[in-house]
Amino acid sequence: MAQAYSRERRAVLAEQLREKVPGLELVVDAPMSEHTSFHIGGPADILAAPAGEEALRRLLLWARDGGVPLTVIGRGTNLLVRDRGVRGLVVRVGQGLDGTEVSDSVISAGAGLPLAELSRLAAARGLAGLAWACGIPGSLGGALVMNAGAYDGEMKDVVKRVEVMRPDGTRAWLSAADLDFAYRHSALQGADLVALRAELGLKPGDRSAIEAEMAEFDRRRAGSQPLELPSAGSVFRRPPNHFVGPTITQAGLRGARIGGAQVSEKHAGFIVNRGGATAGDVLELIERIRAEVKAKFNLDLVQEIRIIGEG
Ligand SMILES: Cc1cc2nc3c(=O)[nH]c(=O)nc-3n(C[C@H](O)[C@H](O)[C@H](O)COP(=O)(O)OP(=O)(O)OC[C@H]3O[C@@H](n4cnc5c(N)ncnc54)[C@H](O)[C@@H]3O)c2cc1C
Repeated sequence: MAQAYSRERRAVLAEQLREKVPGLELVVDAPMSEHTSFHIGGPADILAAPAGEEALRRLLLWARDGGVPLTVIGRGTNLLVRDRGVRGLVVRVGQGLDGTEVSDSVISAGAGLPLAELSRLAAARGLAGLAWACGIPGSLGGALVMNAGAYDGEMKDVVKRVEVMRPDGTRAWLSAADLDFAYRHSALQGADLVALRAELGLKPGDRSAIEAEMAEFDRRRAGSQPLELPSAGSVFRRPPNHFVGPTITQAGLRGARIGGAQVSEKHAGFIVNRGGATAGDVLELIERIRAEVKAKFNLDLVQEIRIIGEG
């Protein structure tokens, strides 16, 4: 477990950071429930949103030199933050790291750009290859880390290369092969690298046909997923030869509830926050699902969502 900082220490660290990174947007004891789509999670000691690459570089160096634990997040849509929160510095990659450039059929985009915006930009330029991404609520950075995908598309299909920042503030380009993409996996998972931007190779297409495809994906998603309630998307990875939702339903767990956490009635692969759910509620429900699916079908469900912080 990471060292717990006293209130005074947190204030001193925040002051140091403000000096090191002028104009930095920074919150002490930031409730992570306000920065995750689950609306769950205890406080981050310090949450900072760098407004550009130089601010990010200074943040990384400050954390490294001070031995302050560092966690990088995007839009927090694949995250469960435990109830006692996150020690050290949480860096949110978003606005300021979200620029785009289009050259022929290649889009270069910053990791902080919402994936859905990138999908709409590609369509507006008549570029095919990202329609599937229109309803995924995360950032491009999170999508690279997770190799996000839907409707038979995934990041792996379009990423040419990714620029990253190392803990010492230096930068490097990783090729698609370096990134080792597989189902909901990339080499960025567990690496101490911050995704900065990606170059995506698309194909010329017809704008109205791409937009019609996106509208169809939106319609299917709205019909099958509990978009009206807070969640972090599919909780579990898809096991070979099985669909998670139907398996959980067959185990009799659709609608099962612990505290404020409930197996969605609409899509049993989602856990939703019915109001006031704690990370403890969600984790207990995950364990119950895993145990009952194992007992009934001898199937091991593995989490897709990323769990961070202290319980
Ligand atoms: C309603 C709903 C529907 C969803 N549907 C889909 C779907 O169809 N397909 C799908 O694949 N996912 C889906 N998701 C999950 C989620 O949107 C994706 O995994 C998304 O790519 C996560 O992006 P994020 O910015 O929110 O990342 P976060 O949740 O903030 O972070 C995810 C991981 O990436 C790391 N990370 C984030 N940004 C960076 C960065 N710049 N550099 C280094 N590490 C970083 C974090 O440390 C963490 O480990 C859904 C979620 C919701 C709530």
